[in-house]
Amino acid sequence: MTCSCSEPILTVIRPVLRWQPSAMLRSSPLRRLFGHLLTLLLLCPGLNAVGADRRTENVVLITLDGVRVEEMFGGIDMTILKSVTKDKPVEKSALYQKYWASTPEERREKLMPFFWSVLMKEHGSIAGNRAKGSTVQLTNGHRFSYPGYSEILTGEAHDEVIKSNDKIQNPYPTVLEFLKEQLNLASPQVAAFASWDVMKWIAERTPNTITINAGFEPYDHPSPEIRMLSMLQHETSTPWDSVRHDVYTHRFAMAHLRAHKPRVLYLSLGETDDWAHDERYDRVLQALERTDLYFSQLWDYLQTDDQYRGKTSLLITTDHGRGIDEKGWGSHSAKLEGAQYIWIAFVSPDSALRGEWSNSETLYQNQTAATLCRFLGLDFNASHSKSGKPVSRVFQAP
Ligand SMILES: [Zn+2]
Repeated sequence: MTCSCSEPILTVIRPVLRWQPSAMLRSSPLRRLFGHLLTLLLLCPGLNAVGADRRTENVVLITLDGVRVEEMFGGIDMTILKSVTKDKPVEKSALYQKYWASTPEERREKLMPFFWSVLMKEHGSIAGNRAKGSTVQLTNGHRFSYPGYSEILTGEAHDEVIKSNDKIQNPYPTVLEFLKEQLNLASPQVAAFASWDVMKWIAERTPNTITINAGFEPYDHPSPEIRMLSMLQHETSTPWDSVRHDVYTHRFAMAHLRAHKPRVLYLSLGETDDWAHDERYDRVLQALERTDLYFSQLWDYLQTDDQYRGKTSLLITTDHGRGIDEKGWGSHSAKLEGAQYIWIAFVSPDSALRGEWSNSETLYQNQTAATLCRFLGLDFNASHSKSGKPVSRVFQAP
């Protein structure tokens, strides 16, 4: 019989195989049970990735608000481009000249070059391209932000309770609080930086459990540069009262990463959603392109630091999709077709998958919390039995 088990599992099991059982065990049904357990261990896929050989010691969760699968997998969308250029020839538009190419692969790489040519090629994988037979969708029925973020962070939809974007404390414990407790971390070691102010209420059930900096909130830091940015955020207004520019959120998160070395970091970027509501397709694409730069800056830093290099898993996703055509792309709601579809990317030293998922099982937004925990070898479902299960394929051999 051939066995696909990897060497680390055998390292653990070999001494057990050499062990001589007592007379009682040799002659009892316990021996059969013992044999079955060994067989189970040997056949159990994915044990290697999260067992003794697990490399992840830190996790980073990143969300990009309301980024559609269409742009994520196909770059600039010609249908929308035509509708926003109106009477002018589309080929003459600056957006066409900057972002258009003949294939979806080329277009998305023009929009997010680091994400596609480095992260997805060499370090991770992404699910959700329905054109390739991979679907990721919400389990909440609302298809807007608070229910989406809560589903990501609690591993469960609560449609009857979480049904607005109001500033109401999340009544359910989040994975960030769970990880702080399980890993016995101080508050700055579990930190969330968000462009949208409501994240202050979404990210934790018990206020002040973790470090949260959200919306137009000052960020205190010893560096004069960061103190200046903290001031400037109030002088560079956005068109929206509750969402600051992502550059501040990103810079504060990076400063926190350097100063406090959190083991759990959540970076929640927001501009992509608000520019889409304003039907500024140019700004949506520019925000995505800037986000790609933030990814590369974050990644470069992680590679320079001993705590993070080769020991950090990233999960990147979105809170909801949006409408699919030139009429609906700016919006998202329970009745808008397309807004239920999202995407999830996994970048981890414990995952061998690379590139796009194809012809695979449907994933759900409620699986993100348990997957984050499993990267760290923790079982979220043990205490949150209704939350989605970890995405097991991430941890299996490709
Ligand atoms: Zn929105």
